[in-house]
Amino acid sequence: MVRTCKEDYCLKYTKGTLAMTKKMKIISILICLSLLLCGCSMPNKTNELQHEQFCSSADGAQNYDLNSNDRLYIIDILNNASWVNDLSNCGSDFVFCTQKQKVRYHSECGTFNDYSNQKSTTVSEEQRAIINSMLGIN
Ligand SMILES: [Zn+2]
Repeated sequence: MVRTCKEDYCLKYTKGTLAMTKKMKIISILICLSLLLCGCSMPNKTNELQHEQFCSSADGAQNYDLNSNDRLYIIDILNNASWVNDLSNCGSDFVFCTQKQKVRYHSECGTFNDYSNQKSTTVSEEQRAIINSMLGIN
């Protein structure tokens, strides 16, 4: 008698847990879907952080590990810059890889060149100093 009771309880408990995990699965799928939809409805944020190598030298020979604050600082500049629909007439010594494009950077003048979209932007002296110190340039 007592044992049956316990088994019943056991069974109910397991059923409850199963129902719970199913619910959790559905909820997490819904969350994923809504995140995907949000991502599609933000066309302005073209430069998103990717989780592979973010920064390397222009020739690709050296990788730089920037911390997440530094990465976000650069991503923020790229997303909020006023871009000119033309490439600058200068070199580049660094490459920043975002999810959708590679942007080249010239530390001497603080210019970003987005070759895939044929556009460029030059940061302020203050921003250039901050970026260059992240990259270990004095
Ligand atoms: Zn330059």
